[in-house]
Amino acid sequence: MPKRPLPPLPEWFPRGTSLLRDPTLNKGTAFSEHERDVLGLRGLLPTHVATQDEQLARVLENFRRLQTPLSKYIMLSSLLDRNEALFFRVVTEHPDEMMPIIYTPTVGLACQQFGHIYRRPRGLFVSAADRGRIAQVMRNWPHREAAMIVVTDGERILGLGDLGANGMGIPIGKLSLYTACAGLHPWKCLPVMLDVGTNNQALLADPLYLGLRQARLTGAAYDELVEEFIVASQEVFPGVVVQFEDFANHNAFRLLRRYRDRVCCFNDDIQGTASVTVAGILSSLRVTGQRMRDQTFLCLGAGEAATGISDLLVAAMREDGLDEALARRRCWMVDSKGLVIASRGELAEHKRPYAHEHAPVVDFLGAVRALKPTAIIGVGAVPGTFSEAVVREMARINERPIVFALSNPTSKAECTALQAYEWSEGRALYASGSPFDPLTLADGRHFVPRQGNNSYIFPGVGLALVIVGATRVTDAMFLTAARTLAACTTEADLAQGSLYPPLAGVREVSARIAVAVAEIAFRDGLAQIDRPEDLVELVHHEMYDPRY
Ligand code: NAD
Repeated sequence: MPKRPLPPLPEWFPRGTSLLRDPTLNKGTAFSEHERDVLGLRGLLPTHVATQDEQLARVLENFRRLQTPLSKYIMLSSLLDRNEALFFRVVTEHPDEMMPIIYTPTVGLACQQFGHIYRRPRGLFVSAADRGRIAQVMRNWPHREAAMIVVTDGERILGLGDLGANGMGIPIGKLSLYTACAGLHPWKCLPVMLDVGTNNQALLADPLYLGLRQARLTGAAYDELVEEFIVASQEVFPGVVVQFEDFANHNAFRLLRRYRDRVCCFNDDIQGTASVTVAGILSSLRVTGQRMRDQTFLCLGAGEAATGISDLLVAAMREDGLDEALARRRCWMVDSKGLVIASRGELAEHKRPYAHEHAPVVDFLGAVRALKPTAIIGVGAVPGTFSEAVVREMARINERPIVFALSNPTSKAECTALQAYEWSEGRALYASGSPFDPLTLADGRHFVPRQGNNSYIFPGVGLALVIVGATRVTDAMFLTAARTLAACTTEADLAQGSLYPPLAGVREVSARIAVAVAEIAFRDGLAQIDRPEDLVELVHHEMYDPRY
């Protein structure tokens, strides 16, 4: 696929104002003198032929002048609608500044305001009213090359709950990260909103709400719509990867179970989170010098993240020689009712594999005292739950306690980086869900805590799946991705308390993950292409480069 076709141009190639209005081809003031002549642009642009660097400088100047994250989000969305390549150049070269705007936390605010800040359509809206004609709707998508779908039904948008059709910001943002972090070509990305209604009364009462104004579909009607969507997506875009995003618990686990052995699909909230967390644990073990099989993990929370993390930790412990039943017994969860144990009776299906025999324990500190975990992983979205007493107890039991406060956004973190280091006399191995600034303790020790950000994992995994035409997504792929990410963390990173490499290097991390995941696909017979002689070269060759 040519990024910027040069003359002789294909029949379909737009000219004049049509070209300037096509964000996939528009270069704005950077069209050369020659292009201005050939493409009917002479006079339609200011005289100066700009470089992309000059355009980038203008974007940054305007971006930094804006006062609120939401206005920055709107500005970047408009840029994406005007000049896709320039948008991706900005995001790729300034990930620390741009990612919190195009994704969490600002994207959450943008979703809440979707009907109010709406300017132009982006992505595909498939609604309950499209039952029986979903394939026809999907054929309206202009890019036949679509190879990666991110789909949500908007029921559990980040930590914000049911946002109905407003949730479209999430697939759009996530796919932008596929392109920015791993170079998945924008034409291969298809954001889908499965609009099944909403139970959010405030939205239903909002005159500017743009979704279906009805209560959420449930039961068989819901399942039939999802089924038709999955079948249609494979019919219209054969082999397309489907990533489920921000579905509520009661559908997320079910849909993954139903489709993971039928089509190439995964759920990032469950599997991507697991992979980035296991990577952080592997980095921590390089510091402690301990083995995976000797760990005891305690999750605060027992939802999508906790279950996915525990499942992948079990896989990692099995690879380290522990048998499955024993490995499961090393993973524990605490939910709102206390320690998840076998005698609790009525337990959601996803919690049962981790409901072990134990006396009831009602609070997290009690669970830490009883189980003596080597690592605590916070994914319960209840702020402050890693209290001083909890962290001090972890530091008493362990020489280097592993403390991951992964709940998002920052306001939901189980403890801050400063708290984790202060309460453990600087011994904690800490990672967070939202970014925390580098810090220096009173005794002068300096720490650079880093985020267990899913963006390290899913873009590289997705790139590999698309390149090899993978038929299925397996746990082995996410475990390999975790190992590869951990291997990208240097000794210098570890020495300053960073369990992950800098986000600025995420494109190279993604490339390495893509190579590793592709190798698994070839090894396990899940690829639809022959293994090329030089896989590294193929992966780099396929990566979209936003420079022109
Ligand atoms: P979820 O809704 O599936 O699970 C939340 C769990 O927390 C539920 O099991 C619930 O019972 C439990 N819980 C609620 N109140 C509790 C309490 N008082 N004590 C103990 N447990 C309690 O959500 P999820 O997808 O698992 O996400 C959970 C959190 O993890 C969110 O804040 C999310 O932002 C964060 N997260 C972070 C990353 C990351 O950093 N890479 C990735 C995914 C999720």
